Formats: sequence, C-alpha cells, structure tokens
Amino acid sequence: MRRRVVIIGGGVAGTAAFAALARAGADASVDVVDPLPAGGSPAFAVEDAALLCNTSADLMSLVPRTPGDFGGILSARGVVSDREAFAPRREFARYLRDVHDFWAGRPGAAYRRFARRAVRVERHDDGYRVVLDDGTSLSATDVLVCSGWGPPRVPDGLDRMPGVVPSPFPERRMLESVPPSGNVLVLGTKLSAIDAALLLARHGHRVTMASPSGDLPAVRTRTVRGAVRIDPAEVGRLDPADPRLTRRILALAARTLGLPLSCADASRGTVERLRAEIGLARRGQVGWQDVLVELVDIANPMLLRRDADARRRVHRACGPLMRYLGAFPLCNAERLLALLDSGQVRVRAGAPSRLDGPSRVQWPDGRTERFDTIVCATGFTSRPMHMRHGALVLSDGPSAAPPELDTDLRLRMDGRSERIWLLGISSGFRMPFVNAVHHAADQADAFVQKFAEA
Ligand SMILES: Cc1cc2nc3c(=O)[nH]c(=O)nc-3n(C[C@H](O)[C@H](O)[C@H](O)COP(=O)(O)OP(=O)(O)OC[C@H]3O[C@@H](n4cnc5c(N)ncnc54)[C@H](O)[C@@H]3O)c2cc1C
Repeated sequence: MRRRVVIIGGGVAGTAAFAALARAGADASVDVVDPLPAGGSPAFAVEDAALLCNTSADLMSLVPRTPGDFGGILSARGVVSDREAFAPRREFARYLRDVHDFWAGRPGAAYRRFARRAVRVERHDDGYRVVLDDGTSLSATDVLVCSGWGPPRVPDGLDRMPGVVPSPFPERRMLESVPPSGNVLVLGTKLSAIDAALLLARHGHRVTMASPSGDLPAVRTRTVRGAVRIDPAEVGRLDPADPRLTRRILALAARTLGLPLSCADASRGTVERLRAEIGLARRGQVGWQDVLVELVDIANPMLLRRDADARRRVHRACGPLMRYLGAFPLCNAERLLALLDSGQVRVRAGAPSRLDGPSRVQWPDGRTERFDTIVCATGFTSRPMHMRHGALVLSDGPSAAPPELDTDLRLRMDGRSERIWLLGISSGFRMPFVNAVHHAADQADAFVQKFAEA
C-alpha cells in the first residue's frame, strides 16, 4: 500500500528527508507543510554574499557519503576556491531549492506543498491527522516533524519596542532599521552577532557587541569529516558521570592529534585572544577543529542510547568546548579584528543592567549610553512543541510535557512508539548535538532505512 508521508517543516531536515525518500524510490506520496518556500530555511535565506556558512562546503551535502554534492557544484561554478571553503549561506539556500525542485518536479512525483503552519498531530484511524492553521487537515501514515527552533529570543521588555530589531536576519530589515552612520548595540557575541557587526560596519555604522561573557567563538579554517581517526571504543569508555569529563575529552583530543591542543589564553582579554587565535589558525595549529567533528559524530549515536541524565551531564561537560564547536571562519575573524583595532566595533563583557530601549542603555558600572538601534542576536526560543491529550502540539504550552523520543527518533505516545519522527533541530529532545546540516542529512538517511524496513 502506498504510504502517505507528511513532512512538517521544509527547511534543511525536511528537504533532506524528502530527497532521501525520493532517491530511495519509496512508494509514498509526500506532503510538505511550511509557511516558507523551498530554500527559505531561516538560517540560509539571506541575500548578502558576505554572510558565510560556518561549516565547509563539503560538510553540507544533503546526500550521504557524497560530500561533493554541494561543494562540487559550488567549486565547478567558481563560487568557492575549494571544497573546504566556507560558502555564502545564500548558495546553500539555492542548493536546498534546487534539490527540492529536482525531486518535486519528477514526472509522476506524488508531491504537494502547503504554505501553512501545522498546529497539531493526532492519531486518526490507522494513522495520523496533521491539523493546519487554517483548520484543514492532512491524513498521513507517517509524519516527520522538522520544524527547527522557535522564533528569535528577544530579551524581556524589548519585544516590539521601536528601534529594536529582533534578529539580524533577514539582514535587509536590520540594515533598514539603522539611520546613516548609526550607533548600534548588538546584543550577543556569537556567530549571528558577528555577522551583524560585520555587515553593520561595512555600511558605515559603529557597533558595540555585548554579552554576559563578552567571549567570541574560536577561529577555524575548516570543518570536514575524516581528517582524523578516533577509536569509537575510546569515546565509549568516557563516563558521563565522571566529574573530570571535560578534561578527559580534551586529553582524548590531544592523543588523537599526537600533540598538545593549542589554544589561546583567555586571560589576555577578548581582542588579544582573537588575535592569538587568528595566528594559530593561520599557522594551521587548529587541529581541534578536525577532532571535534569526529567526536560529535561518534558521540551522538552513543548518547542516543543513554538516559536523559547522562545526556545532560555530557552536554554540561562540553560547555567549555561550545566556543570551539561554534567557531567562526578565519576570514571573518580577520575582518572583525581589523574593525576592533580601528575602534569601529567594540566588544563589551557584561550585558546591560537596564534596557529601556536604544536611547538609554545602562551598563553594570552604572554608566548609561545612547544608541540608535538595538539588534538582538540572542539566539532562538526553544523547540515549540509539547504533548497534550495524546496529541503532539506544535507550540509552547503552559506546563508543557516535552515529547519523548526512542533511540530511532520516533515519538513515544502513551508508551507506544509512533510512526512520527523528529528530525533536525526537533530531534534535540533526544539527540544532544544536532545544530548542523550534516546531522540533519544523516538523520534523513537513517529515517529512510527504517521507513523501508517497516
Ligand atoms: C544564522 C545561522 C547560521 C547557520 N549556519 C550553519 C552552517 O553554516 N552550517 C551548518 O551545518 N549549520 C548551520 N546552521 C544550523 C542549521 O541552520 C540547522 O542545523 C538546520 O537548519 C536545521 O534544520 P531544521 O530542518 O531542523 O530547521 P530549519 O532548517 O530551520 O527548518 C525548519 C522549517 O520548519 C518550518 N516550520 C516551523 N514551524 C512550523 C510549523 N508549525 N508548521 C510548518 N512548518 C514549520 C520553518 O518555516 C522552517 O522552514 C546555522 C544556523 C543559524 C541560525
């Protein structure tokens, strides 16, 4: 019997799953529900070519075991010099659209796309009903939930305040919100905040970036698979309950490289640490970047089989590694350092103690400052979904029960494993490290294998 698959969210994981089903020749009709068009995934639907991916092109293929599927296309078109380069994000959006259009346009493809939001998934007859925000519903034998993060997180009190931009993206909205030669406060010092600072500075604005730590991400030159080999047994021997877990992970990384890890001294302050990390990256002393990709690849499937407490402990132990996992490209680091040295951009440790809007920002030392615009680069709200009355509800809810997932990322309802899979960011209820394209592509591949077996 032909299966009816509904995919909620046609971003990275949804497109990867749709393409994987089509490539496998699955006997299934596919309905994709997403208010955004194909390629509209919020992280990549940007216009400016200076907004770069922070993973190498070869790691961003949607086709398993074929790294060149994205990098190869780009290098053939001359967009990147080599496949380890960091491609413009808009090129990845175009790739997502092309992959979608190719499979959706096949003669005889049983495919429909609905520009709506799904609000609920409930059991119905032998399968499921996916209820949409216009009150209509789609019936399904199998449901994939690939709905990503919630909306951008905006600090309390700033929501909808004049002069406050909730996210750097889309970048056009941010740039249009700043007067000429503006003075801009960017809340955050991680990847999106750096993107915002670089763009704003290029448009002639002065920028202050601020976060509680004032810490910038580390600097990297590539993120690729297979550059080092780690024995999975060594990873398996790490004990989530070990209070020295962070140190043991670092020791494993150093053993893998056969060298001590070179890291810049944090006590030098943010700017000098960035300068030192740029130096290390230029000299190729950033072996940790290869180790981390492999470590996460090995740890993810192992941790899937561990309980929530073990997963939480490992996540906590990896806290000091987060600035390396979320490192930024050397070319952007060099641009940022030049702007910091010139004074056009500055970084402050310590979030504002009081924010009454851009015109009055109070710092922890009591001084106040006036800005023209505040840009929030403070991340996203959590995955908007919970369980209620035996249904999966796709919104936040008061005292919401989070979904429970099996090791194969299938939803459990009333102790039963459903034919509802959570992939990509949505799978973070069970899989500890999921914030990258290659994790979603791997999950899509694994899903199709299970789908075929069932
Ligand atoms: C600024 C930024 C830059 C990034 N750069 C990189 C990078 O360089 N390399 C990398 O590997 N990763 C990068 N990431 C991470 C990457 O974006 C995610 O890993 C990936 O997008 C996850 O895919 P997803 O399908 O889970 O979510 P998304 O790709 O965000 O897709 C979610 C989709 O679900 C839709 N949706 C949400 N709710 C509903 C609903 N109720 N009904 C229907 N549809 C819904 C949304 O409209 C969206 O299209 C970046 C992230 C950000 C924020």
